[in-house]
Amino acid sequence: MKLKDLTPELVVSVPCPTCGAASERPCLLYSGEPHIDSHIERKFYAAETIELRRWGDLESLLQR
Ligand SMILES: [Zn+2]
Repeated sequence: MKLKDLTPELVVSVPCPTCGAASERPCLLYSGEPHIDSHIERKFYAAETIELRRWGDLESLLQR
């Protein structure tokens, strides 16, 4: 999963490792205001998580 292929919906499907925002919640700035965009770490984390989920799906298919 490339970062440019990530949609905002996919990014918010994972929690943010930077500000601690829960999944499906927007990122928060230090001031407590909602972040207009997600933290870059969250995007990397989402890309990684989606990649792992894909491999997980593939493995479960192969085990059938
Ligand atoms: Zn965040």
